[in-house]
Amino acid sequence: MDLYYGSFHALKNINIDIPEKEITAFIGPSGCGKSTFLKSLNRMNDLVEGCRISGDIKLDGVDIYKDKMDVNVLRKRVGMVFQKPNPFPMSIYDNIAYGPRNMGLDEAEVQRRVREAAAFVGLSDELLEKSPFELSGGQKRRVAIAGVMAMHPRVLVLDEPAAGLDPEGRDTILSQIRDYHEKTGITVLLVSHSMEDIAKYANRVLVMHRAKIAMYDTCLLYTSP
Ligand code: ADP
Repeated sequence: MDLYYGSFHALKNINIDIPEKEITAFIGPSGCGKSTFLKSLNRMNDLVEGCRISGDIKLDGVDIYKDKMDVNVLRKRVGMVFQKPNPFPMSIYDNIAYGPRNMGLDEAEVQRRVREAAAFVGLSDELLEKSPFELSGGQKRRVAIAGVMAMHPRVLVLDEPAAGLDPEGRDTILSQIRDYHEKTGITVLLVSHSMEDIAKYANRVLVMHRAKIAMYDTCLLYTSP
């Protein structure tokens, strides 16, 4: 796969298989194409004028750009959380419930999913009724992650879930994501800037450099159950 923003060649000759039910971590210098890569997986680049992709991206063998894939269905299967999510002006509970409600689930199921997802990322019941605007950047990201988890996607894509956190905070959120992965078997793709975190929490590492994949290998310390 190749991706262009106008005449700028932002992803070059990407040719890999990312296995399901594993945690794959992306690392590389700022501007090398990590976010562009992740966004192409649920077609967020469709919104960028002048963005063009050649080649195929397949999910379970189905080409997500051709084969009449419905973008809304794709985004439910491939859930994505940005580094700086913007919460809606409603309670934390309603923010997390937004996705599942849009899927047409009944309110009892929505509530079950919201509580389950909030517990995975360590948001307490008392917090759920508050406004997300009172939260720190890291906590806002937790709300966004829970909102995607509550939609039960096949793939969870996280652009720097641990950005801006101290080592303890990074360990907490990454362990929560790993526990969720281990309990549900979900495929996780995430960006990290710490080789140490990747060694601890990922099955695979993908190193990017100047729009290309420089390395793609197995981590030997962590194995999914
Ligand atoms: P990373 O996530 O590794 O920091 P990005 O994927 O954000 O890298 O960016 C890769 C390259 O593509 C950068 O040179 C960036 O300036 C460029 N880029 C990103 N988004 C756009 C866009 N919407 N239009 C044009 N260029 C872009």
